[in-house]
Amino acid sequence: MSNVSEILLHMGERNLPGGAVSPPIFQTSIFCFSSFDEFRNALADETHNFLYSRGNNPTVNLCEEKLAALEHAEKAKLVSSGVAAISCAILSQVQSGDHCVVVQDSYSWTRYMMLTYLKRFNVDVTFVEGTDIEDFEKAIRPNTKVIYLESPATFTFKLQPLREVAELAKSHHIKTIIDNTWATPIFQNPIDFGIDIVVHSASKYFGGNSDIIGGAIMGSAEDIQHIFSTEFLPLGPVPDPLQAWLIMRNLRNLEIRMPVHYRNALGLAEYLESRDDVEAVLYPMLPSFSQYELAKKQLRGGSGLFSFRLKTRDIEKVKKVTDNVKYFKRAVSWGGYESLIDPNATVFAPGKPIPDDRISLIRIHAGIEDLELLKEDLKTALDSMYD
Ligand SMILES: *Cc1c(COP(=O)(O)O)cnc(C)c1O
Repeated sequence: MSNVSEILLHMGERNLPGGAVSPPIFQTSIFCFSSFDEFRNALADETHNFLYSRGNNPTVNLCEEKLAALEHAEKAKLVSSGVAAISCAILSQVQSGDHCVVVQDSYSWTRYMMLTYLKRFNVDVTFVEGTDIEDFEKAIRPNTKVIYLESPATFTFKLQPLREVAELAKSHHIKTIIDNTWATPIFQNPIDFGIDIVVHSASKYFGGNSDIIGGAIMGSAEDIQHIFSTEFLPLGPVPDPLQAWLIMRNLRNLEIRMPVHYRNALGLAEYLESRDDVEAVLYPMLPSFSQYELAKKQLRGGSGLFSFRLKTRDIEKVKKVTDNVKYFKRAVSWGGYESLIDPNATVFAPGKPIPDDRISLIRIHAGIEDLELLKEDLKTALDSMYD
């Protein structure tokens, strides 16, 4: 039995009441005490006690135990969304006058947090391409406290050299935070490369069914304790016990789902690459990808998300492709069982100019449907450009 299935199917689930095979949902806001002393002790140390479900809850804690083990971390904190995980992790490490280095292609709300939100608190930010260790060496300053990574980033799929960045950061006492949502712990464990804190949107593959919003932060017991006291308790991005239970339920088959997403994404990426009307396919696991060698070092596989650019710059053609898919759904996000198509041009409001390299950039999420069906669907949609 692999370690992952030990964690996801068994950890913390032996000896459940009445021999239950599924863990209970503790849908409770408060926990009662048998005496004054017990009450006072719990209040003195909320991290290690059940007091009020804005802090700890047994269902949430079981999910956290599994998530920590999955990411090779000491501890995890489940939160209400991926952006809550990102903002709590960043805010926990900075004070007025500090500086952060961030990869420029990071998730849109990460960029907002860094560019707009932190400005209010006098925290400076430098954006870097991040494909080369020199990008980071040049950007760090004496007051740098955080290097924020997303590898691969989820539109351009650029990677950062994780081991080198972690070493550089450690030598300057800088914390490294990475968004590992794309790879999942099935394909990449950043902590093994020396990264300090890992954040995830559980709304993607952890949930796996496009039916929950959630997030997680993994790291050392010390870092997670700090985040619990300084961000989680005061800001209140609380995960619901039912949400934690759904994540645990859907995590049970994460190890089975991910290789299917990988196979389908690679199959579709190879098909697109074979077409004359496709300019580029951006998928780290394709041998033609500019950082393929680094990808093979850091990733054990690839997830279902990648993008491609058509040779055309005619938005009407992009519309035709988007409108003529039958099985792919037109939607944001990703990580569910279903395949999605997301033309980047849709983020530009009607009438607004679209940069040349974004007009025909299309993001695909390869779900777990039959690969031949998906290929056929994409072929029909792409061929519709010539009708
Ligand atoms: C979706 C996503 C997030 C945000 O997560 P939410 O659960 O939607 O708040 C963060 N990072 C990446 C890479 C994402 O794809």
